[in-house]
Amino acid sequence: MFNLILFGPPGSGKGTQSEKLMAKYGLKHLSTGDLLRSEINRQTPLGNEAQNFMDKGQLVPDEVVIGMISSAVDDNPGIKGFLFDGFPRTKEQAKALDKLLKLKKAPITAMLALEVSEEELIKRLLKRGETSGRSDDDNESVIRARINEYRSKTAVVADYYKQFDKVVMVKGEGTIDEIFARLCKEIDKRA
Ligand code: ADP
Repeated sequence: MFNLILFGPPGSGKGTQSEKLMAKYGLKHLSTGDLLRSEINRQTPLGNEAQNFMDKGQLVPDEVVIGMISSAVDDNPGIKGFLFDGFPRTKEQAKALDKLLKLKKAPITAMLALEVSEEELIKRLLKRGETSGRSDDDNESVIRARINEYRSKTAVVADYYKQFDKVVMVKGEGTIDEIFARLCKEIDKRA
């Protein structure tokens, strides 16, 4: 198996690049943000619990997302690999993911980390908020809260993978195709 993590702050382009990567490499895309929004739309108990945190720009508790990812991995046997997007977002989640993948004898190949300036992130998220229908995108204070959550809780996840030499920094500014080409170059080196 070939498992990748696409990493970066909110608005760094993980969703956009994931679509392209999954098409090119035949990976199964697992986005915790998408899975959570689907739980909210279906008004499941998990969705109702998650919504309170998401509306405030806070991270959903680890046990909720870890359980959700664990079922999603189990629901997809025999695939080429996973592209994790928006997960892991805390060190606890990273450790849980490692444990899960160890059982499948399929470790993480690389963490691709998109780097984008804060000014550009806010600009992109407010623009997305005009059309996405995502209530966490059209409010600047919620956007800032998400970026702060990223800084205080999520950025350390890169340090966790650095000790295993798995982090690849990729410049996340430029055109969508330029960024995609940078990602592919790094992936192909490791394939
Ligand atoms: P973005 O990264 O652009 O903010 P996502 O769709 O990845 O968007 O996530 C939206 C929200 O869902 C986050 O602000 C957070 O509340 C919640 N969320 C998504 N993934 C996780 C995760 N792995 N752990 C905790 N909360 C998460």
